[in-house]
Amino acid sequence: MPRTTTPDRPQPVHVIGGGLAGSEAAWALAQHGVPAVLHEMRPERGTGAHVTAGLAELVCSNSLRSDDHENNAVGLLHEEMRRSGSLIMAAADNHRVPAGGALAVDREGFSAAVEAALQAEPLVEIERREVAGLPPEDWSSVIVASGPLTSDALAAAIAELTDQRSLAFFDAISPIVHRDSIDFDKAWLQSRYDKASGPESDGRDYLNCPLSKEQYETFIAALLTAERAEFHDFETKTPYFEGCLPIEIMAERGPETPRFGPMKPVGLTNPHSPDRPYAVVQLRQDNALGTLYNMVGFQTKLKHGEQVRVFRQIPGLEAAEFARLGGVHRNTFINSPRLLDSELRLKNEPRLRFAGQITGVEGYVESAAMGLLAGRFAAFERLSRTSPTPPPTTALGALLGHITGGAESSNFQPMNVNFGLFPPLAEKLGKKHRKPAQARRALADLDEWLEMQQAATAE
Ligand SMILES: Cc1cc2nc3c(=O)[nH]c(=O)nc-3n(C[C@H](O)[C@H](O)[C@H](O)COP(=O)(O)OP(=O)(O)OC[C@H]3O[C@@H](n4cnc5c(N)ncnc54)[C@H](O)[C@@H]3O)c2cc1C
Repeated sequence: MPRTTTPDRPQPVHVIGGGLAGSEAAWALAQHGVPAVLHEMRPERGTGAHVTAGLAELVCSNSLRSDDHENNAVGLLHEEMRRSGSLIMAAADNHRVPAGGALAVDREGFSAAVEAALQAEPLVEIERREVAGLPPEDWSSVIVASGPLTSDALAAAIAELTDQRSLAFFDAISPIVHRDSIDFDKAWLQSRYDKASGPESDGRDYLNCPLSKEQYETFIAALLTAERAEFHDFETKTPYFEGCLPIEIMAERGPETPRFGPMKPVGLTNPHSPDRPYAVVQLRQDNALGTLYNMVGFQTKLKHGEQVRVFRQIPGLEAAEFARLGGVHRNTFINSPRLLDSELRLKNEPRLRFAGQITGVEGYVESAAMGLLAGRFAAFERLSRTSPTPPPTTALGALLGHITGGAESSNFQPMNVNFGLFPPLAEKLGKKHRKPAQARRALADLDEWLEMQQAATAE
């Protein structure tokens, strides 16, 4: 049905995908007085993981993870989203089931609540149809929130628009370690053959963890016997790339294979010992702040608990704190640090914004958070209002900053929210007090930002 617009009523913003991010984006638009058309292809077309026709279906776990906003970055993100008027958080709070410190939900009640709220919202129209290609030219503002299982036709159009190399169909995530949990009495900084990576590099770009022959053999044995996570049925139909083979599969091909691949010991001199290492695990800086390091070539399908157990056997990583653990999944995502501006707009086609897992965040909450921001940004744009993006000291701002520039674009992989993405505190605090202090700073800065946003809307 053709939409009529009155002079008072802004043109609608089109949101593609009624998942966690799209539902949140449509809600944020409506809360700012901007009409939204939410296009969801289910039940007409399914995804391989969704099993219902409901909006905001949780495809796997029913947990939105820790709800501790003082000590956990995802808990802090919950709180920031609540304060920002999140529909996803309101539905989750109303459909909570007992889960200790985690926020777990009754998945059906949760999805039904999100859908009912959007249906009851006069500024939201829900269209049950696939957007099978680039949105029509006359959709002047669009939020693409089609998720990790974006339909083939839309994914092909996005690939064409962004160039093929900027759209991935699998993630291959190596574990990411907080730098301050690495033992520098064992590890050292050095690039192979001291090679500088650019004018600003001093030839010490990598963190190296050395293994003796005995340590290597013990490590490979642990790797081979550790428990693995299964691929989903729909994932086994997508071919594996040789370039992102899990480390345990590499070891399965021959115990020496990793030593001739990512664990090769060449071009490196251990300053802590005269013995030549038999193998080396290298970690590379993962964010501009230099607080996070990823284990190079260590993408893995080991179960999370097993990753912690096995990777802490690596000398230097005995007390490693993982900002995120590894994985290999079917996942459609774009190279956001290269493609998006600070308001989630595609640089070469700014009428298109991206939100949710397709931007390279990982997780239900992070996806919804990017929907919330995309909805607000699009609403402000429609209303010709300006407001800064959330401060980098907040969980919303830290995550946004990471995907739109803070992350290294050459090896960009999806990321959960974690305190390693936040700028360090000005004062030096003991480990126990650091996270609560970061959380207090975040909430104070968020409140100030929300006040600014409110003032800008009232203008
Ligand atoms: C199998 C699997 C398991 C996961 N398990 C977890 C987990 O346990 N915990 C966790 O935190 N995260 C998990 N994730 C990661 C991620 O957080 C979720 O996928 C989350 O739902 C992403 O939110 P989203 O809004 O970006 O995408 P989705 O929630 O998937 O929403 C995207 C929506 O877009 C629709 N769509 C796609 N293409 C089109 C189109 N062309 N036109 C119209 N509609 C379209 C889809 O039907 C879908 O409803 C999992 C991902 C997958 C694939």
